[in-house]
Amino acid sequence: RVKTKWAATRPKFPATELALHNFDTSYGIQLRDLWPSIRVAMLCEQKYGALINSFSSVPNAIKDLEAQGCKDFISIDCSRNEVHQPSQDYTTSHRDSTELEPASLQPSISPDIKCLVFPQGDISRFKPARPDSSGILGYYLLDAASVLPVLALDVQPGHTVLDLCAAPGGKTLALLQTHSVNYLWVNDLSGSRTMRLHRTLQSYLPKEFLDESKIHITSTDGRHLGITEEKSFDRVLVDVPCTTDRHSAMVEENNIFKRSRTKERQKLPLLQTQLLLAGIQATRRGGYVVYSTCSLSQLQNECVVQQAISLAQQELGITVQVQDLRWFAERFSDTFHFAPQLNVGELVLPHLCANFGPIYMCKLHRMN
Ligand code: SAM
Repeated sequence: RVKTKWAATRPKFPATELALHNFDTSYGIQLRDLWPSIRVAMLCEQKYGALINSFSSVPNAIKDLEAQGCKDFISIDCSRNEVHQPSQDYTTSHRDSTELEPASLQPSISPDIKCLVFPQGDISRFKPARPDSSGILGYYLLDAASVLPVLALDVQPGHTVLDLCAAPGGKTLALLQTHSVNYLWVNDLSGSRTMRLHRTLQSYLPKEFLDESKIHITSTDGRHLGITEEKSFDRVLVDVPCTTDRHSAMVEENNIFKRSRTKERQKLPLLQTQLLLAGIQATRRGGYVVYSTCSLSQLQNECVVQQAISLAQQELGITVQVQDLRWFAERFSDTFHFAPQLNVGELVLPHLCANFGPIYMCKLHRMN
């Protein structure tokens, strides 16, 4: 009875306020003097990118965007620095103890994915995408930094790819722009979000492309696919549910910092680790997994990766090595602000002049 009364009289803080309080406490320590400016950026309007849909025949889609001042950040940043330092694999958590990976194993950057952005400091908004004569839309608006995990995945012709947590489908669309995927399995636990994914694919792909033999869509718990689809895919994208920091700081609806969702939020690192482990298990020997979040949280990013690596070894006998993505971050540093050295992975930090992210990504190589 006393507890009910206490609960009823407990002050109701908006979830956005609870989120910011949580961030101030944890990110103040984690990011130190970087945090105040990241906080300001996260509370300002986010910048988008226009992912060009090569399945659409809208005339002059790219030219029209270029005429407004936009540029494809992928081709620009890649031509700026054609020759990059060799990437590295490393089994320990610290970068200093790494060994160089042979040059032949260096990933490439898909020239087929095009994402146009307004220049640094330009906060113009994109117009809604137009359809072509078949109703297929010319571009998809998304946080341009969320294309980076797809680029890091480095899909090659003929690959089988699993997108483990795929809805609403922004990264799925980016994966398809490579025109390299031989078979794509797209999954999301949420039925309603999977329906949204269906609608996205219908708006962006010709009907004949939505063939079961090319794109398989399921709505199941991704944690089970590790066992049922063991060693099946060349590439696996594990874009996990997270605290979605920017959304949590700004939007009350569906906010994971609501008191009623406290337990769900606290269990996120466990769920994320289990999903990454399933992704590792579903990858073929020699294949790659990219883990990504849209959170700044070290607990949901680096700690999850390190925990999954040791569990994969101890419980499944699978050895995975972390790929060094520093060269990758350097290539895109004209467009995005990356966090200074992390132990594993790369993190795009929101910045007032380039207000993308947060997006964390880490690439793993399955060795056996
Ligand atoms: N990759 C998506 C994109 O680019 O549009 C965004 C994915 S969102 C960050 C995370 C997704 O994970 C949510 O759609 C959520 O429904 C889904 N999810 C949550 N738990 C899951 C689970 N156990 N298995 C598979 N998907 C899950």
